[in-house]
Amino acid sequence: MTERSQPQPRSISIFGSTGSIGCNTLDVIDHLGGSEAFRIRALTGKGNTDLLARQAIAFGAEIAVTADENRYGALKSALAGSGIEAAAGSAALVEAAERDVDWCMAGIVGMAGLAPTLAAANRGADIALANKECLVSAGELFHRGIETGGGRLLPVDSEHNAIHQVFDTNQRHSVERIILTASGGPFRALSAAEMASVTPDMAAAHPNWSMGTKISIDSASMFNKALEMIEAMHLFDMHPDQIEVVIHPQSVVHSMVGYSDGSVLAQLGAPDMRTAIGYSLTYPERPDLPVERLDFAALARLDFEAPDEERFPSLALARRAMNSGGLSGAVLNGAKEVALEAFIDGEIGFLEMADIVATVMDRIGTGGGAVSIDAVYEADSTARILARELVSGRSARSLAT
Ligand code: NAD
Ligand code: MG
Repeated sequence: MTERSQPQPRSISIFGSTGSIGCNTLDVIDHLGGSEAFRIRALTGKGNTDLLARQAIAFGAEIAVTADENRYGALKSALAGSGIEAAAGSAALVEAAERDVDWCMAGIVGMAGLAPTLAAANRGADIALANKECLVSAGELFHRGIETGGGRLLPVDSEHNAIHQVFDTNQRHSVERIILTASGGPFRALSAAEMASVTPDMAAAHPNWSMGTKISIDSASMFNKALEMIEAMHLFDMHPDQIEVVIHPQSVVHSMVGYSDGSVLAQLGAPDMRTAIGYSLTYPERPDLPVERLDFAALARLDFEAPDEERFPSLALARRAMNSGGLSGAVLNGAKEVALEAFIDGEIGFLEMADIVATVMDRIGTGGGAVSIDAVYEADSTARILARELVSGRSARSLAT
């Protein structure tokens, strides 16, 4: 009698497992059977090695990697006796991403997510993409990586996940537009004068979503939506003019697709990232998840309004980057990451972030043409150096006055 072979559990890795997306991903995995249903290969983090080690032990990971080389010792001792490998540094992140998996969550924040996510894509994993910077900075290259590897690209960003759910790929020719919804963030109703003096803590307090600090502040400045416009253009192969943004303060309609017959299809749900994460994990099946169910009678109303591009210049900067193409997304994102850190560190004011990004985009030419990974990193680095100089100049001026 031959023994019937057991189906292998799906193998997965989570990059950025200690962050907001990463913790939500592990929560979804836990609900769907944990280490009995999934074989966890790599988990990664940066600062919080205690949490990373606890996660790795709880989910029986094969390897835990911290991006911070100085924390290797701390991670190694937290994992002592567990049999779980410890590693540190950016090369170790890429090495972990090259391990064969069926599914990989790209949940690292910022440009630091590009190299490991590209490595996992090239290797052929299905990529659950939370890290929008991969597409913003290196859209074409990233698509090429996915094609080379042969895995699927499943968007986790709630807007793009919503669009994925209602975008009829058989009717691609009749898709007229994509409408990204935006909550408007905590400063939707503030005047420009009031916005000039807000603090990082005020900016990080998102009205509807609980997310990492950086994306929360990007939501307040609408740089998050700016990145998402570029992300949508690459993901769904749209012309810049086909991408609209509408303010929807309740964050219930997660985004919409408009068709040539006038129909608009929307995806709705509670503002809970576990829906998008679960969708990407079990696609095309829908998992059972313990997220809040919408009660339409209690909701009573859904509001929509046009964004104010004067108070939120980030949206116009995104259009500029989309229309110029080439390395413009990498330049916008590199400058934005420096400006955001400078705002968090108290070096510049909230409204100065967009000024700095605009000046960097003015000064760095970013023609079209073929884009290599080296060119992306060079554009990113040039934008960062210039943004840093602008931050220092502004800090020096404000000290002098
Ligand atoms: P977070 O700050 O909560 O977590 C970021 C993760 O990346 C952590 O594990 C951290 O240790 C790791 N990390 C930070 N810097 C790193 C570096 N230099 N190298 C390697 N790892 C590093 O962020 P988040 O809110 O979970 O967001 C993660 C990504 O997902 C971002 O790109 C964000 O824009 C996107 N996203 C997040 C949400 C959300 O609800 N949080 C929604 C949509 C998209
Ligand atoms: Mg989003």
